[in-house]
Amino acid sequence: RHNMSINVFPIKAFNDNYIWCLRNQTHCVVVDPGDAAPVLAYCQDNQLILSAILITHHHWDHTGGIDALLAAFPDIPVYGPQNKNIQQITHRLSDGDDIELALLGIKFSVLEVPGHTLDHIAYYGDTGLFCGDTLFSAGCGRLFEGTPNQMFQSLAKLTALPADTAVYCTHEYTMANIAFAEAVEPNNQALTDYKNWANQQREKNNPTLPSNIEKEMAINPFLRCHSTELVTNVSHNLGATLTSEQATFAALRSWKDNF
Ligand code: ZN
Ligand code: FE
Repeated sequence: RHNMSINVFPIKAFNDNYIWCLRNQTHCVVVDPGDAAPVLAYCQDNQLILSAILITHHHWDHTGGIDALLAAFPDIPVYGPQNKNIQQITHRLSDGDDIELALLGIKFSVLEVPGHTLDHIAYYGDTGLFCGDTLFSAGCGRLFEGTPNQMFQSLAKLTALPADTAVYCTHEYTMANIAFAEAVEPNNQALTDYKNWANQQREKNNPTLPSNIEKEMAINPFLRCHSTELVTNVSHNLGATLTSEQATFAALRSWKDNF
């Protein structure tokens, strides 16, 4: 299944963003270029021609670099959500759409994943899942526009993907997310093991990403609303009984907002 001729490189931007760059020897595409400068530097250093831009949602830290990239690489396609406020998009995508980046031999299917924002989409293909600010390692995006139920459904779409799917998130929030996850599920051994690994990665200044679906289902509290320990602790924090996974998810998300 995996596209071996493609390399996926994290271009760092701002404090904790990764602009994922999918590349071969000559061409590349970037996902969510919030800042053009580090992308242009990477293309220059590696003699790469930028051939497309993929956008997951309208936030500035995902879109702010589009204009400067188009100035340097005119007329390349910009894929993204239907949201007309992102004016530079040339190919507006909906759930179930398939796109092909022919120069790189990459195909993606589009998943609509509202919750963090209402326009949020994710890209899934042989190279992995590019999920923007929907799923983070050990966490999920804040609900700026959508409802808890929308986010719950969106995350369910992502966990339905194959277990070994590589998960490329836009932010390095892993250590902070783990601190919250530990408060919620202190006896989750997989989480403890993951914390030790993630700590070592961060000490070496390495990304903790990509993650994968199987790992996230073992350690990410937002994907574990079925866990007895989690339900007990979320219920205790809320001071009320929880009667569905959706209700647990909503209470968990608001606990994290105030953590
Ligand atoms: Zn965002
Ligand atoms: Fe973001």
